[in-house]
Amino acid sequence: MRRPQVELRGDLVGLEGYHSPQVDVEVRLNTNESPLAPPEAWLAELRDEMGRIAFNRYPDRSAVDLRTALGRIHGVGPEQVFCAKGSNEVLQCLLLAYGGPGRRAAVFEPTYALHRHIAMLTGTEVVTGWRDADHRIDLESMEEILRSAEPVLVFLASPNNPTGRAEPRDLVTHVASTAPGLVVVDEAYGQFAPWSALDDPGIQEGSLDRLVVVRTFSKTWSMAACRLGYLVADPSVVQACELVALPYHLDAVVQAAGRLALHYRAEMEQRVSWLVGERNRVAASLGDLPLRQWPSDANFILFRPLERSARDVWDDLLAASVLVRDCSSWPGLDNCLRVTIGTEEENDRFLSALRHSLGGVAGGI
Ligand code: PMP
Repeated sequence: MRRPQVELRGDLVGLEGYHSPQVDVEVRLNTNESPLAPPEAWLAELRDEMGRIAFNRYPDRSAVDLRTALGRIHGVGPEQVFCAKGSNEVLQCLLLAYGGPGRRAAVFEPTYALHRHIAMLTGTEVVTGWRDADHRIDLESMEEILRSAEPVLVFLASPNNPTGRAEPRDLVTHVASTAPGLVVVDEAYGQFAPWSALDDPGIQEGSLDRLVVVRTFSKTWSMAACRLGYLVADPSVVQACELVALPYHLDAVVQAAGRLALHYRAEMEQRVSWLVGERNRVAASLGDLPLRQWPSDANFILFRPLERSARDVWDDLLAASVLVRDCSSWPGLDNCLRVTIGTEEENDRFLSALRHSLGGVAGGI
């Protein structure tokens, strides 16, 4: 006899997983990775290091070497750094440690969907603030949310995905010094931006002990395959995350990959400047087309076709083997698409296909 089906947790019924379509195309510009490979020399160092890993043993559970190396870059000790499998796992640890039933997290839409999604998975109530038509957060309405909902966590992404702009420095420091709970600044695209919350001396001196800055190796470090992210915060936040993380969640290969990558920081910064130049070129070309685009401080651009439906444009691009992100069903992003900056050739393919789709001149750029 067939056993009865076990019911899913009630609050998860109807919830969809967070996935970007993985379609087989020639030009993939939908997940904001770097189009450029990490340096050969890094790979050679990593190969050597792999020869020295004792694969029969569990890895260093607290990833001390990696945390120390990261801390050195940001002017803090390892006790202020927590590492996990991608910044998503960092966010999950924060929500496991501080969220949960009866607690609230604030997000400002449109923003990175995983903040809301992981909050819901952890049974944390989500309080939503809205950005204006230019995707800016109004300080007064934010303060109203902080006062009325007293969220234990406030999530900001700077630069914000998918809208592209870094949050104003004043807003972040003001909120971090007045919020009733932790203020998480997700800087997945931080190195593309003109400023970083990590540069605030308050994070080193301890005066901004509510501020949590999250970073990833998936974008600027060209290491999305590795799954490595981290946060810099007050030591109490690091201890809280360690409490909820699974033992040995960070394997030895990833720890070595991250630690060795830091030897190639100058190369990373060169890739970032090159991508910023390419982003500016793409933005300038988009300026000639019937669409609205928003300024970007990241490696992607959000735009809204004015005369055609985003879905039709997405289909046309796919037919040209170019995959971008369809954001049109996301809150506050009617008819919007997001394109990741790729190699020069990929960007040209995108621009050419987009021109064609929007009824401009077909072919060359
Ligand atoms: N934060 C933001 C704002 C992102 O856009 C992403 C990736 N799309 C992440 C976090 C997650 O990155 P990862 O888990 O690869 O570190």
